[in-house]
Amino acid sequence: MNLTDPNLLKRHAYIDGNWQRSNSTFPVVNPATNELIADVSDLSEVEAEAAVIAAHIALPNWSAKSASERSKLLNKWFQLMMLHQNDLAILLTSEQGKPLAEAKGEIAYGAGYIEWFAEEAKRVYGDTIPAPSNDKRIVVIKQPVGVVTAITPWNFPNAMIARKAAAALAAGCTFVVRPASQTPLSALAMAELAERAGIPPGVFNVIVGTDAQGIGKVLTQHKLVAKFTFTGSTPVGKKLLAQCAARVKKVSMELGGNAPFIVFDDADIDAAVDGVIASKYRNAGQTCVCTNRIFVQHSVLKTFAFKLAAAVDKLNLGNGLNENVDIGPLINEQAAHDVHSLVTESVQAGATVVLGGTAPVDNFYKPTILSNVTNEMAIAQNEIFGPVSALIGFQTEQEVIELANATEFGLAAYFYSRDIGRVWRVSEALEYGMVGINEGIISNPAAPFGGIKQSGFGREGSKYGLEDYLNIKYLCMGALNN
Ligand code: NAP
Repeated sequence: MNLTDPNLLKRHAYIDGNWQRSNSTFPVVNPATNELIADVSDLSEVEAEAAVIAAHIALPNWSAKSASERSKLLNKWFQLMMLHQNDLAILLTSEQGKPLAEAKGEIAYGAGYIEWFAEEAKRVYGDTIPAPSNDKRIVVIKQPVGVVTAITPWNFPNAMIARKAAAALAAGCTFVVRPASQTPLSALAMAELAERAGIPPGVFNVIVGTDAQGIGKVLTQHKLVAKFTFTGSTPVGKKLLAQCAARVKKVSMELGGNAPFIVFDDADIDAAVDGVIASKYRNAGQTCVCTNRIFVQHSVLKTFAFKLAAAVDKLNLGNGLNENVDIGPLINEQAAHDVHSLVTESVQAGATVVLGGTAPVDNFYKPTILSNVTNEMAIAQNEIFGPVSALIGFQTEQEVIELANATEFGLAAYFYSRDIGRVWRVSEALEYGMVGINEGIISNPAAPFGGIKQSGFGREGSKYGLEDYLNIKYLCMGALNN
């Protein structure tokens, strides 16, 4: 791998400011070529516990720093990430597969949360509340929850960590993360830069290892852990939530989605096509806020499908490290196989292939469009997690709102309309945590990212993002008239 700064390729866990090795290792491979990138130390629950203890020991000094001191260190970390944006992007594309331009975008996006929370650290305000009697005063202060642990997925190996760690550290918490075993290198590079930024030992720890369950038990159940935060699938999230119940941990969950994308007959069709390209085909369709079901009003369905096919046909599939590639490989062969199964099952159930639909080659899946899909088909009720558009026709606004909400998920939704009345009605009726209106890219550090229903709870980014890492303490001062 050709890095300007080869020291950013780390192979061992980062615990208490030390690079911790293990005799056993696991391979990290490039999904575009299946070539080995690095053998990484395979650590266990023993080292996970050591990381939690290190975070516990580091907590008093870190939380005692002034907001301004923590802010300066976070800002330095942000600057180093942006300084090394190219190398971090090469590492990210190599282990995850997304095109290099998207990987650079993810580094800037992730770093943006660190910059944002470096500022928010200074705005942890409390309250004074009028008391029910004159001899009392009610004061509310906010304090860091304590040691925070996290488990993150492979689809955004940098940003899913940055979103959590930035808020936790800004609030005065210390942090232990276990990244997905397919993509540990981006997390370890973040640790290297945290160290260079001067973030003290024990404040930011990365435990790497293939024993997801064993390490996960420590991170969800250890008595020194105050809060657990997870990004990943809903089934795994439910298991981890149950584990957290044993010690009543504070929890936040960023889980799966099934985003509807609605195109009304009054929409700007070209803008809607651009919106689908951005929200469906980014990261080869492997994002939690990916458009999953595209509802198009019957009168514009033909035009929309034609224009979408023309745009999708131009997307280049290939190794994300090469130039002019729009769509990289899926994360592994199983993922490509699963996407193709959903497509063939839909066709057997009556869907029509407009574009693509061919069997995967290695981990690559050709961008695909299906029409005549129904909301009951498996492809409309499961996260596709691949570059496949599923078009569903509809007649009325009321009908499409019911269809859009007929899912257990509630993360992101999108719709295109130029009717101001409809914009308000539909925005309020959609049962989702986030709604893009004439917009396919909705996530940024200033906005509260998160879902409802089985897409989870808690928010990342914005002023609300800090709240998940703070305890509210109420002080009641009495006998003031004596
Ligand atoms: P996943 O299978 O749930 O895995 C997520 C993480 O959990 C990985 O680090 C995984 O480790 C770990 N894990 C799996 N089983 C575990 C267990 N029993 N105990 C402890 N840890 C366990 O999800 P994924 O396939 O990596 O990611 C895709 C999912 O994440 C999609 O559903 C997507 O929608 C969701 N997602 C949600 C958001 C959001 O903000 N709402 C953002 C991004 C992704 P290994 O990889 O080592 O198995």
